[in-house]
Amino acid sequence: MSFPRPALRPLDEALAELLDHARPLQGTEELSTFEADGRLLAQDLVSQLQVPPEDNSAMDGYAVRSREVADEGVVMPISQRIPAGAAAQPLVPGSAARIFTGAPVPQGADAIVMQEDTEPAGEGAVRILGVPRPGQWIRRSGEDAQRGAVVLARGERLTPAALGLAASIGMDRLAVARRPKIALFSTGDELVMPGEVPPAQMKPGVIYNSNRFFLAALLRRLGCEVTDYGIVPDRLQATREALDRAAEAHDLILTSGGVSVGEEDHLKPAVQSLGSLSLWQIAIKPGKPFAYGRVGAAHFMGLPGNPVSSFVTFLLLVRPFLLKLQGARQVAPAAVPAPAHFTWPRADKRREFLRVRRNARGGLDLFPNQSSGVLTSAVWADGLVDNPPGQTIASGNIVSFLPLAELLS
Ligand code: AMP
Ligand code: MG
Repeated sequence: MSFPRPALRPLDEALAELLDHARPLQGTEELSTFEADGRLLAQDLVSQLQVPPEDNSAMDGYAVRSREVADEGVVMPISQRIPAGAAAQPLVPGSAARIFTGAPVPQGADAIVMQEDTEPAGEGAVRILGVPRPGQWIRRSGEDAQRGAVVLARGERLTPAALGLAASIGMDRLAVARRPKIALFSTGDELVMPGEVPPAQMKPGVIYNSNRFFLAALLRRLGCEVTDYGIVPDRLQATREALDRAAEAHDLILTSGGVSVGEEDHLKPAVQSLGSLSLWQIAIKPGKPFAYGRVGAAHFMGLPGNPVSSFVTFLLLVRPFLLKLQGARQVAPAAVPAPAHFTWPRADKRREFLRVRRNARGGLDLFPNQSSGVLTSAVWADGLVDNPPGQTIASGNIVSFLPLAELLS
């Protein structure tokens, strides 16, 4: 029996192919703005009004005509009082208006003097201590949103700040992309579910299924609806049946384990017999075994079984795919340059993703055990170093850092 080595696909090429297959899903969902955090906007949000609606005060203080306050210490009568939410009268010439933060600037006034720069000057009058600059402490009408402007565009991922912005233009409901439906299953006869067998009674060679937990959590963070099919035994027929069943009502079947090239790895033949497999093995470490194909109308993605490989391939390949399915325009994570405070003396032929953490000196520390089975590294890390093939790293070298905070959002 021979084991031919397939050519490994470069990551960028594989990702481009995947994204090509990820046609945005049909269908949108209308949600309360409160419920839309993390979802992908399915409409352009055009402001019907100016935000703020009119010029208003950025300070508690006095509204004045700046040219009437050419010197320090000018005393002015207070001609009106304008709390937030009130309408203002035009400013009487030669006077100041008492004004509060967020209140509309009266017509004629062109500057706000903050109350700390004033002092009382007898009944109904104020002394202006400084000389105001025209325009100071005035927030301009429309400086946040102009009437007619697109404040949030279709395909944008909603963040807490974006929800606030949508609310500021009066949107209490939003159209978002529907949730992708994902069928999740794990393969491996060595796996048992935590809770089924207590740690003291685990038989030799048996391990807990950890991938299922982080994959379900990652999927949910990306707005997916997850059907968990549990553990599928390492048998071709069982694998085929599970795939067949899962393909029916799901956009994507996501599996972990069983995509290597051993006799116990049945996903490849099972997918090929039910549909097609178009991508197989990627030149990255961790994470070489990765498969993409179709089963019926569903997409299929097979992640490696090793937990860190599974985690990393999810972030690099599945995450952008799922964002694109939901109509996102921006799917690739942005790397930032950072200095390595470690050495990596042995280069690999594959592009590597090292688990690192930022230290207080602005550099990156390396988790000492980079094995693809050591999930501790992924918990400890706050990012990945994207290291090109064949590249060693000396301490002080500038490397490419992918923050996990972004990849996990
Ligand atoms: P495989 O890709 O099926 O050859 O699995 C590679 C390694 O990952 C083996 O050591 C498996 O025991 C382990 N593994 C596979 N699936 C899981 C899982 N769901 N949770 C934890 N470890 C797993
Ligand atoms: Mg296996």
